[in-house]
Amino acid sequence: MYGKGIIKGLGVTLKHFLDTYIDDIRMGKKRYTDEGIEYRSSKDVRGLFTVQYPEEKLPTPEEFRFVPFLVYDEDEAGVQTTRCTSCGICAKVCPPQCIWIERSEDPKTGRPIPDPANFFIDIDICMNCGLCAEFCPFDAIIMDHDYELAVFDRFETNIFDKEKLLKPAEYYQSIRPYNYKLQADARVEKEAKKAAAIAAREAKAAAKAAAKE
Ligand code: SF4
Ligand code: SF4
Repeated sequence: MYGKGIIKGLGVTLKHFLDTYIDDIRMGKKRYTDEGIEYRSSKDVRGLFTVQYPEEKLPTPEEFRFVPFLVYDEDEAGVQTTRCTSCGICAKVCPPQCIWIERSEDPKTGRPIPDPANFFIDIDICMNCGLCAEFCPFDAIIMDHDYELAVFDRFETNIFDKEKLLKPAEYYQSIRPYNYKLQADARVEKEAKKAAAIAAREAKAAAKAAAKE
């Protein structure tokens, strides 16, 4: 029968609508409003499971990926250091080639400085794959959770530059605490290994010098 599918679909909607009230009577409270999104997005939900976006938003899982951002660290004196060294790996691995980097040079020596003069991402082309973040050797580029980037004039605003892309390490920690800790621990371990290797080399050199005397 034509339209059977539509009637069936509307029946599912009606069932959830009615179940919202039945559930409230059964539990003696307004689950839709009192228990909020946590209940509505759980597997136990019986009634309506819709979210009134943009007033309400579903929690974002840690591994959610949107347009990447650049990380900077800030020391106690307020000095900000961009983690990016402009090595160019992210631009090389980016499948749609939407990253481009302006390298900076020492004006006296002409040698490259490991801090980009500018860094651009065309966010209309970015496909949120996360490869740039995966391949960055310095944990300098991270996938963001901010998905509310709609604008009226994309040609004017959707090429993000370094200024727009930079966000503090604390922000990274707040949206991806698990990954932040993993990377921070790995960095500490690497630094400790490096320090141990230097100390061992120095001790060997000192022993050699002492043997010669
Ligand atoms: S973000 Fe990472 S991979 Fe990209 S240029 Fe900077 S340091 Fe290299
Ligand atoms: S997320 Fe993917 S497409 Fe977007 S800038 Fe990174 S590598 Fe390129």
